[in-house]
Amino acid sequence: MGWQSGSKHILVIGAGVTGLTAARSLVEKGYKVTILEAKSHIGGRVQTERTTGGATVDCGASYLEGRIGNPMTKEVEAAKLALSACDSMIDVIESADSSMTRSSIFGAYQKLEQIKEIAGMACYMQEKDMSFADACGDKLEDPSMRFAANSYCLPMTGAELHKVGVIGSHAGLKETSGGDLLVTNGYGQLAQHLLPAEAELKLNCPTESITVNESGETTVVSSKETLVGDAVICTLPLSILQLP
Ligand SMILES: Cc1cc2nc3c(=O)[nH]c(=O)nc-3n(C[C@H](O)[C@H](O)[C@H](O)COP(=O)(O)OP(=O)(O)OC[C@H]3O[C@@H](n4cnc5c(N)ncnc54)[C@H](O)[C@@H]3O)c2cc1C
Repeated sequence: MGWQSGSKHILVIGAGVTGLTAARSLVEKGYKVTILEAKSHIGGRVQTERTTGGATVDCGASYLEGRIGNPMTKEVEAAKLALSACDSMIDVIESADSSMTRSSIFGAYQKLEQIKEIAGMACYMQEKDMSFADACGDKLEDPSMRFAANSYCLPMTGAELHKVGVIGSHAGLKETSGGDLLVTNGYGQLAQHLLPAEAELKLNCPTESITVNESGETTVVSSKETLVGDAVICTLPLSILQLP
């Protein structure tokens, strides 16, 4: 941004980890920040629930996927979250669903890589994208392929296979390494850590429209109120922004 933070007011749309991280870094630089979130809670696709017995259940993200190269590593470390090396997701699936085995799932992931490469190449050449579901075709009848395709696409894009294009599905992905680590007491703790105390948080406030006038003044209309700021950062997943 070309101007000084001073009293500039930034509106951040969405209180998932992206919105919270943006808000945190803006607050640290001295900006006034308002976060607008559609739901009654923060976290977005990071959501930890507790059972009556006190066990944690992550309904969204649960792993720090690769300590090296993952922008969340420094936040997880700053929040002093307990981590454990864990590669048990496939074991759980294997025992819960007899139609899938460790090797059938690994095989499906390999096939998926080939499909992405071949279909991606064809799309580039024809200058026309196709949905992930169409690229996989009848291979999705295989439960392991269905699992692999969904577990690749849905967490990353927030959208179903028929709504995600092959070309965009892996655009901008950064490679990480160092193995997956389970955030032992729930990944949701990260969202709580990221929320800056100095930011204004407006829950149950779905944004309906964003307009920027010639002088750069930004107006965000939500179902509850209209807010005017100096800039807006919209962190909604593309799958939401693409809705008519
Ligand atoms: C089942 C599952 C498992 C996953 N596992 C992992 C994992 O182990 N490790 C990992 O790193 N990642 C994992 N992911 C992916 C990870 O959860 C996401 O990449 C990440 O949480 C995305 O954060 P985000 O802030 O970009 O988007 P989101 O979390 O989608 O946040 C967007 C926010 O915007 C809000 N919003 C929507 N519409 C509006 C509106 N009109 N106005 C205002 N607010 C609005 C939403 O309510 C939401 O809070 C998983 C995802 C899923 C679904």
